[in-house]
Amino acid sequence: MRKRMIAGNWKMNKTYGEGIVLAQGLADELSGGTGDVDVVVCPPTVDLKGVSEVIAQASAPFALGAQNVYWEESGAYTGETAPDMLEAVGATHCIIGHSERRGYFGETDEDVNKKTRALMAHGIVPISCCGEPLEVREAGTHVAYVVDQIKRDTEGLEVDDPSAYVIAYEPIWAIGTGKTATADDAQEVCGAIRQTLVEVFGAEAADGIRILYGGSAKPGNVAGFLEKQDVDGALVGGASLAADSFAAMVKAA
Ligand code: PGA
Repeated sequence: MRKRMIAGNWKMNKTYGEGIVLAQGLADELSGGTGDVDVVVCPPTVDLKGVSEVIAQASAPFALGAQNVYWEESGAYTGETAPDMLEAVGATHCIIGHSERRGYFGETDEDVNKKTRALMAHGIVPISCCGEPLEVREAGTHVAYVVDQIKRDTEGLEVDDPSAYVIAYEPIWAIGTGKTATADDAQEVCGAIRQTLVEVFGAEAADGIRILYGGSAKPGNVAGFLEKQDVDGALVGGASLAADSFAAMVKAA
C-alpha cells in the first residue's frame, strides 16, 4: 500500500522570520502526529535552514523540501543551489518541474530528468511535477500530453526504491485559480501516469510510486481526490500558507 503524502509548496512566499512562524504553527497543529501520512513542507531556499531548525527543535512530524535544485555538484552557476547544499540544511525532498518553473524560467523535461538523477544520487526525493495547460485540456489531448512529459522526465531513470520518487499531476489551469479539476479528472490522468510508469519501470515499482494531485486543493476537497485509486496525496500551494488549513488537509488525508 502506498503511504499518502501531503506536500506544501510555499512558492515565493514567507520571509525567513515569517517562515519560522508558519513552521512553528504547523509543528503545534501537528503535535499529535500525522497518522499514516507523510507530510512535507517546501519553503523558499533562503528559509530552508530556519525551517529545518524548527523541525529539529520541535521534533515536528514533517519533512523539509526545496522548490528547485541544479544538477551540477558545484561551480560557476550563479544563483543556483546544488543537491548537497540542500542535503546540508536537512532537505529530504525537492519539487522539480513545477509549471511555474517551466513557464517562467524555461525548465524543460530534459532539465527535469537531469535534476531527478542529481537528487536521487544524493538520496533526496524528487517531487516531479507534470500537467497540461488549458488549451491542451480544451483540445482533449491532456492524457497524451502528460504521458509524453512523464516519458521524457523518466527517460533512462532507474528507481530502486519506489517510495523515494514522487510525481505530482497539476493541471496548469487549476493552479492558484480556485478552479479545481474534479476527482474523476485527476484519476483519469493519474491512472494514465501509473500505466506509463508500469511501461517505464515495471509493475512493482509503478505500484509503489506516489502520484499527488495539485491545483487549488483545499481542506474541503482533498478527501475526494484521495478516494481515487491512483491519487496518493496532494501538492498544496495557497492552502499551505496557513498552519490551520494545511494541518486540516493532513488530518483529512
Ligand atoms: P495551488 O498551487 O494549491 O495554490 O493551486 C498548487 C501548486 O502549484 O503546487
